[in-house]
Amino acid sequence: MQILRPADLTASRRPAAAGQTGARRPAPRFLALASLTAFFLLFGPTALTVSADEAAAGHGPRNPHTSASALQELQAGNERFATGRSVHPRQEKPRLSRLAAEGQTPLAAVLACSDSRAPVEAVFDQGFGDLFVVRAAGAVPGVDQLGSLEYAAAHLGVPLIVVLSHTKCGAVTAAVTGAQEPGALGELLTKLSPAAAAVRNDGDAAAQIEKAVIVSAALFARRLTEASPALAEAVEAGRLQIKAAVYDLDAGRVTFAAE
Ligand SMILES: [Zn+2]
Repeated sequence: MQILRPADLTASRRPAAAGQTGARRPAPRFLALASLTAFFLLFGPTALTVSADEAAAGHGPRNPHTSASALQELQAGNERFATGRSVHPRQEKPRLSRLAAEGQTPLAAVLACSDSRAPVEAVFDQGFGDLFVVRAAGAVPGVDQLGSLEYAAAHLGVPLIVVLSHTKCGAVTAAVTGAQEPGALGELLTKLSPAAAAVRNDGDAAAQIEKAVIVSAALFARRLTEASPALAEAVEAGRLQIKAAVYDLDAGRVTFAAE
């Protein structure tokens, strides 16, 4: 897979050299110049430096985290949260300006359910720039979620992706109970069908839902590398670890799956 480096991004933003596009294609060059003018008006000429380009795109300095240190940080943060000792770190306003100027180096990406009772930064007691969060109901990895995670791995260098499902998940419950929904929601629920099918004979509905939550996180964690050659390559090369986890809404605790 071709990965765009910061240098490629910078090069693509440069206006074409005079005469390069020729008189045959005046419209694209005009549009490029118009865009460039708008860019200068908005950000000033100094914005066209490599570092500003990279910062605008989210690129920071080389990511200093490892999968082990990231996991440790997430576990420690969740322990603080679950025991009512959150410190709400790195949430001061000046940090936002610094991140905007210097770029981000989040310690992990988290694919989580959209449920309002599972606020990811709060659950892990993390601050601005710490987590690259991708959400969808049921923590379903659709194509846009996959693309976002590929960006986090390739361009931000996150060493860890957590697939975070949670207890009492409405999407998982709908899939297990066979709820029929129209439109895009129905399509989303079909992606939870394999997890629902896997627990079909495991006790009553409540027991099945509880197990399907765990199974869905594990299946989606595996799905990331099956569906994305870029993520598979990063895992293979040892640059990335992917872990499934479940957040308990009542206890506030996140349990990570064993290897
Ligand atoms: Zn949910």
